[in-house]
Amino acid sequence: MHRYEYVRPADQAAAIAAAAQATTAQQGADVRFLAGGTTLIDLMKLNVETPTRVLDINPLPLDRIDVASGGGMRIGAMVRNSDLANDATVQKQYSVLSQAILQGASAQIRNMATVGGNLLQRTRCVYFRDTAMACNKREPGSGCPAITGHNRTLALLGVSEQCIATNPSDMCVALAALEATVHIQGTKGARDVAFGDFHLLPGNTPHRETVLEPGDLITHVTLPAPIAPSKQVYLKLRDRASYEFALASAAVVLTIENGSITYARIALGGVGTKPWRSAEAETALTGRPANDGTFRQAAEAALGAATPQSENEFKIELAKRCLTQALRMAMAR
Ligand code: SF4
Repeated sequence: MHRYEYVRPADQAAAIAAAAQATTAQQGADVRFLAGGTTLIDLMKLNVETPTRVLDINPLPLDRIDVASGGGMRIGAMVRNSDLANDATVQKQYSVLSQAILQGASAQIRNMATVGGNLLQRTRCVYFRDTAMACNKREPGSGCPAITGHNRTLALLGVSEQCIATNPSDMCVALAALEATVHIQGTKGARDVAFGDFHLLPGNTPHRETVLEPGDLITHVTLPAPIAPSKQVYLKLRDRASYEFALASAAVVLTIENGSITYARIALGGVGTKPWRSAEAETALTGRPANDGTFRQAAEAALGAATPQSENEFKIELAKRCLTQALRMAMAR
């Protein structure tokens, strides 16, 4: 049995100081913050995560949803997914976020899972979760059996020769489209990271998934003031209707005036190694007539750089149809 120390830090400063004592080369993997535990506990049972110290941050006062300066929204890192999805302001002004959360996991998991934890969800790649197998993400330099093995659900965009794992989050796809900012407190003070810069591409270091350093604590996420009146849709396609990860998903935020698209923010899920904001699709949509032809062109642009593996080529067309349909649904709102 893997033994570890369980600690409840008295406050945020104590939590950061304790986490900064990480000693391994794997970016602090020997110390983990425990929030909802819906990813961490699973992976500890599988011996994929083997921290020597678990810092329970549930008592920290990071569970508020507030109006942010400038009319946006400030969401504490410990806000539960259910509370965020059912918040009246989120449902009205950031509905793509509510839709995305409610299409993820199960009600029980959403009641436990937190915003900060969702940002750090690990991949569902079967090799990553099986310690009998090689995996560059789990053991750097050991290899990537997925590239020649089971890769039906794995990524098309942002892949490298070292890792093709899909980022599994729904919530993060919506946050990418809403241009959120991640707020971090660390041993050197506070810093803010644009959502698109928070997750890292696998490259040659797939074990590094975010910009977080040992001791860094996500304190909250902010959303800019809502774009009104925008049309927002999150569409998720999966093998079964509930409690399943996306094969392809699309988050769409649009404004349309006189039949033309004046504002477009597009992100894809289920197909990228990180929550995938598509500047290509946004360019293909902005200033163009809001019709099926434009939507399909945007979908073609979004998947233009897709790199399929032996089992997942079908996801290219699936993702194109997902985005096209999400845009149609947004139009109809
Ligand atoms: Fe590991 Fe990434 Fe390869 Fe999966 S795709 S086996 S997570 S290195």
